[in-house]
Parts: sequence; C-alpha cells; structure tokens
Amino acid sequence: MAEPLFNRLCLVGIGLIGSSIARVAKKRGDIAKTIVVTTRRAETLQRVRELGLADVVEADAARAVEGCDGVIFCIPVGAYADAMRHIAPHLAPGVVLTDVGSTKGSVVRDLSPLLPAGVHLVPAHPMAGTEHSGPDAGFPELFEGRYCIVTPLPESDPAAVEKVKELWRRCGSMIETMDPVTHDKVVAIVSHLPHLIAFTICGTADDLAEETKEAVLKFAASGFRDFTRIAASDVDMWRDVFLNNREAVLEMLSRFSEDAHAFGRAIRWGEAGFIEDRIKRGRKIRRSLIERKQA
Ligand code: NAP
Repeated sequence: MAEPLFNRLCLVGIGLIGSSIARVAKKRGDIAKTIVVTTRRAETLQRVRELGLADVVEADAARAVEGCDGVIFCIPVGAYADAMRHIAPHLAPGVVLTDVGSTKGSVVRDLSPLLPAGVHLVPAHPMAGTEHSGPDAGFPELFEGRYCIVTPLPESDPAAVEKVKELWRRCGSMIETMDPVTHDKVVAIVSHLPHLIAFTICGTADDLAEETKEAVLKFAASGFRDFTRIAASDVDMWRDVFLNNREAVLEMLSRFSEDAHAFGRAIRWGEAGFIEDRIKRGRKIRRSLIERKQA
C-alpha cells in the first residue's frame, strides 16, 4: 500500500460528499493516517460516530483542524467565509486546504482574503453526486470513473496541487484542471441550469389546479419523473449554488430561454424540420454521453 497522502486529514462538514470521502479513505487506508471530522450539529456528529466514519470526532472546527496537514471543506459554499474565519488562526503552516464546492469563483473570492500565510488553497469539485444528503447517503464508489475538476490559483504551490489531484485519483476520479471562471460556466450549463429547470417545472406543476396536479402525479412516469429526481436535492446546497454562481447561471438561463422560445415558435408555425433537428441533437448528445461512460 502506498504511503498515506495526509498524516491528519480534517473534513469540515460531512454529508453526502464528505462521508463518501471518509468511506473511501477508511476503505483504502492510503489517503490519511487519521481522519478528523467536524460538523455543525451534534446529531450529525453522533451519526458519524455510529457509522464509524472518523478516527476523531470534534464539535469545534477550530480545534478539529489543529495539527492537520489536510483540510477539506464539505459544506455548502455559502458557509465557507464564516467557517474560514473561525478556523484560520488554527491552521498549521503548510496545510493543504481544499474543498468540494459546486462553484469555484466564489470559493476563491471568499477564501483567498482570509488565507493565513503558508496555507495552500487548492479548490476542487468532484463531478459526482446524488439527490440524497447527510452522512448516511455517502458511499465509497461515488467518485469512481467521474471527473474531478481542480481549479488551482496561479500562485498555488505545485506540490499542494499534485496532492489534491492524487487525493482524487485515489478516490477513483479522473482529473481535469480548469480556471474557476471556465469551471463556473461549464457547471452552469451541465448542472445548475438543469437543476433550475427541474425546480421550476415541479413548481409549475404544483401551481396547477388541484385535479390537474393529481393527474400530474398519477401519470408522472413520463418525462416529468426524471425532473423530480434532481428536484429532490438539498435546499441549502442549491440555494448557495445559485447565489454563488449568479453570472454564469443567468447567462446560461438567458441563452436557454432564447432557444426555448425558438422551439416554441417552431411549434407555433409548424416548422417540423426545426423540431426534428432539436430532437436529433438531443439524441446525439445522449449517445455521446453513453459512449464516454458518463450516462
Ligand atoms: P449535505 O449532504 O447536505 O451535507 C452538508 C454538510 O454541511 C453537513 O455536514 C452539514 O452539517 C454542513 N452544513 C450545512 N449548512 C452549514 C452551514 N451553514 N454552516 C456549516 N456547516 C453546514 O451536502 P453535500 O451534498 O455533501 O454537499 C457538500 C458540498 O459538496 C457543497 O458545497 C456542494 O456544493 C458540494 N457538492 C455536492 C454534490 C451533490 O450532488 N450533493 C456534488 C458535488 C459537490 P450538519 O449536518 O451538522 O448540519
């Protein structure tokens, strides 16, 4: 077995993503010698103890990060600045600070000004997830065969960047490096906009008259059901994603709205060719996802 990457690794927050990291780390043994977990609520900490996800469970995040050579933020992105203010004076020089947040520009914006000297920030985003949350929802295979996007800063220490990449390789992921602006645009179209549409379509269905709503639920085993899966996602996480990737989401929404109106216009004017073309493009994209084993 390879040497553990970290001597003492602290997970700040432990829901779906944090607990999946803890599970891979426990299973492999070459990610961290000691896993420390801290989280906001006593109930969650208790559950972490019951599930045996950590070697050390610590309620106070400041104490939890003390003596650690690796720290991973696994909390909603809107909570980063407060968490950082609390732990910053307790971070050891040389520590690698990384995260799993779904937005990256906001992470650099919120964490960079609070970074103590000698702390290496290397933001990352595992492109893997489910609609479930909490420490029970995680599983060690979550990241296998999925991309992890690492968004180092120009001044990031190359050894720290390599360590974060190796962490994700050991979790089974494929690594892609990007700047935070490109990352935020990419995820706005592949993840944030689809969630916005799913939340909206469920809201529209819910707004319909009572009898119609019944019918919607009764016959939901068509396209609607696929939207409801992602619409079941965590409230805090998704509120923070939309508020912290505002520009990119609004840009993609505006492009989407134009295209949706064009589709509507084609339906109104009976432009069969246009409609067929859109459907063919959808089928082509689905086929290429299957070929890339990302479906
Ligand atoms: P989760 O299952 O809902 O767990 C959230 C964790 O953050 C819990 O430990 C929770 O603590 C803590 N937390 C929530 N609000 C907090 C606050 N205001 N201050 C401090 N701690 C707080 O979430 P998750 O799905 O693992 O997501 C964690 C991060 O991963 C997010 O940044 C998200 O954008 C990113 N991500 C998620 C997915 C996905 O599909 N879910 C995929 C990739 C990346 P308590 O339980 O103690 O309250």
